[in-house]
Amino acid sequence: MTTTESCWFCRPSRGEEEPPGGWVYEDAHWVAGHAPASYGPPGLVIVEARRHFLDTAEMTQEEAATFGPVLGRVTRAIHEVVGAERVYTWATMKAHPHLHVWLVPWRTGETTGIQRVAELESHPCEPSEAERTAKELRAALAP
Ligand SMILES: [Zn+2]
Repeated sequence: MTTTESCWFCRPSRGEEEPPGGWVYEDAHWVAGHAPASYGPPGLVIVEARRHFLDTAEMTQEEAATFGPVLGRVTRAIHEVVGAERVYTWATMKAHPHLHVWLVPWRTGETTGIQRVAELESHPCEPSEAERTAKELRAALAP
């Protein structure tokens, strides 16, 4: 596995920013975790590549073959668990050049589009809420 010590996603420990409740999904190429409570609302999930690479242009054939199905499964689970009408897909790799995709739940009445993404931290959840949602997501994603 290619890693870099300076990459936050490749670090063996994230301290207080570990996904609450642990990974909700994991396989050979991908992991997904509920975002820490301070990042945004319940149901905000980040899907990460296990391997260190920048973006979809650098995926192996196996990563490319599983990327869509994994995003689809986790998106479906977010719809079910938090009742999201839409789930935004957002990835910029702004801070670290390691592919990770934010899946952002959206419901009627909430701010739309890029403004919704910009305001995520204004809608934090309680740590216990994040852990409970993670548990429900893991159950929904169980094989
Ligand atoms: Zn990395």
